[in-house]
Amino acid sequence: MGNKTLCEWRRHDIPEHLGVLRKIIRKPKFICGKCARSANDADYLCQPLKLKKE
Ligand SMILES: [Zn+2]
Repeated sequence: MGNKTLCEWRRHDIPEHLGVLRKIIRKPKFICGKCARSANDADYLCQPLKLKKE
């Protein structure tokens, strides 16, 4: 999926790249403040927010 953020994935991208998606969302550390998607790396989100408060 290159440098696409998870937020940019389209519906048909999900079944095609399910293996990648599983890795990205397995242990989410960030959540997108705009799209409510979660990921283990801020780079996958357009407006990353830390999931846990520190
Ligand atoms: Zn987003």
